[in-house]
Amino acid sequence: MDKQQEFVLRTLEERDIRFVRLWFTDVLGFLKSVAVAPAELEQAFDEGIGFDGSAIEGFARVYESDMIAKPDPATFQVLPWRAEAPGTARMFCDILMPDRSPSFADPRYVLKRALAKTSDLGFTFYTHPEIEFFLLKDKPVDGSRPTPADSSGYFDHTPQNVGMDFRRQAITMLESMGISVEFSHHEGAPGQQEIDLRYADALSTADNIMTFRLIMKQVALEQGVQATFMPKPFSEYPGSGMHTHLSLFEGDRNAFYESGAEYQLSKVGRSFIAGLLRHAAEVSAVTNQWVNSYKRIWGGAERPAGAGGEAPSYICWGHNNRSALIRVPMYKPGKTGSARVEVRSLDSGCNPYLSYALLLAAGLKGIEENYELGPGADDDVWALTDAERRAMGIEPLPQNLGEAISLMEHSELVAETLGEHVFGFFLRNKKQEWEEYRSEVTAFELRKSLPVL
Ligand code: GLN
Ligand code: MG
Ligand code: MG
Ligand code: MG
Repeated sequence: MDKQQEFVLRTLEERDIRFVRLWFTDVLGFLKSVAVAPAELEQAFDEGIGFDGSAIEGFARVYESDMIAKPDPATFQVLPWRAEAPGTARMFCDILMPDRSPSFADPRYVLKRALAKTSDLGFTFYTHPEIEFFLLKDKPVDGSRPTPADSSGYFDHTPQNVGMDFRRQAITMLESMGISVEFSHHEGAPGQQEIDLRYADALSTADNIMTFRLIMKQVALEQGVQATFMPKPFSEYPGSGMHTHLSLFEGDRNAFYESGAEYQLSKVGRSFIAGLLRHAAEVSAVTNQWVNSYKRIWGGAERPAGAGGEAPSYICWGHNNRSALIRVPMYKPGKTGSARVEVRSLDSGCNPYLSYALLLAAGLKGIEENYELGPGADDDVWALTDAERRAMGIEPLPQNLGEAISLMEHSELVAETLGEHVFGFFLRNKKQEWEEYRSEVTAFELRKSLPVL
């Protein structure tokens, strides 16, 4: 038994913890959990816990359904909302096949594989997500319109604002689980919140996002409201993005930074951005995986202040340009040696493991193949005409899930990074969602056509 495993077992005893939840994530990004008694844990560390993989979305076919969840002791944390003795703790798991090889269906393994390639190239990948979500008044029933829990707006600080108490309690819980928060504020829409996590290696970030979603839902319940990560719950308000700032380090040196270069951005940084741009459309089906995701990025006509609310629709980069897909944030003179790129397409309903694996693969491809980065866009790209955008070589992101799926289907980069199993499952699952949506007669059509036709 190694030191970390010993630490876990000792803590269980000292803190009188009677339940240990083993967590993992399915292919669509939903958290799964199985609780074990502390007495079972020593064996779980050695052999893992068996479960029926065929019951988990995207995991296995019925004839190869036995799978093993093996807890990662580095992710051990006591759950703060079950803190009083006897307590509950959690660990994330790696999923193994019966022959103990890693499961190709495990999103955590997909990201680990991409990270292993990154370290072969001499880099470490860091991520810092800005997570947006809504607080709603009641649990919405069967497709009816939800009600935001408050009527505040961007950065509002008012006493009637439920968000304030909510954020304080939620952040306290995150911090007690070792998840550091950098900023938090009310976002632009009624009921909309944003909490930004401090940068960490991408695997920890993805684990942290899974924990984050659960904590937000938990705290919301305690305060009599509902938290949702649905990308665009309201037609007339902005949706919930999960902008993520990315950087690569070589040892303790930021590989995107070059003193004196344009925006202090090194050649490595420029090629990385070029890779993100070239592959942006084909990874959309994963970074924006729901029918509803495309209502966020193609929001409304009045941009940027209107319903689209600064979500990117076009594939371009810019310096401090919030209409661009990729933004190189302002260089902070005090922060010598630091440079990062912000990807603004991701939404809060994505699977963070798969999404980060793909962004990383796209950026690395740019570096390996020396992609040239074209000029940045200084304009508000929403305000340009189609012809102007075309002249500048600016392409749109996919306009709906159907288009995104077709692009993904032909992507070597996505197939290679996700691996055959996840790639195949994902396409099948998303095609089905698109088909169901495409064939449904909606309230819009009935409203628009029934009275006049
Ligand atoms: N809500 C916007 C989005 O969906 C972002 C708004 C902002 O942070 N400036 O991307
Ligand atoms: Mg922000
Ligand atoms: Mg924001
Ligand atoms: Mg941002």
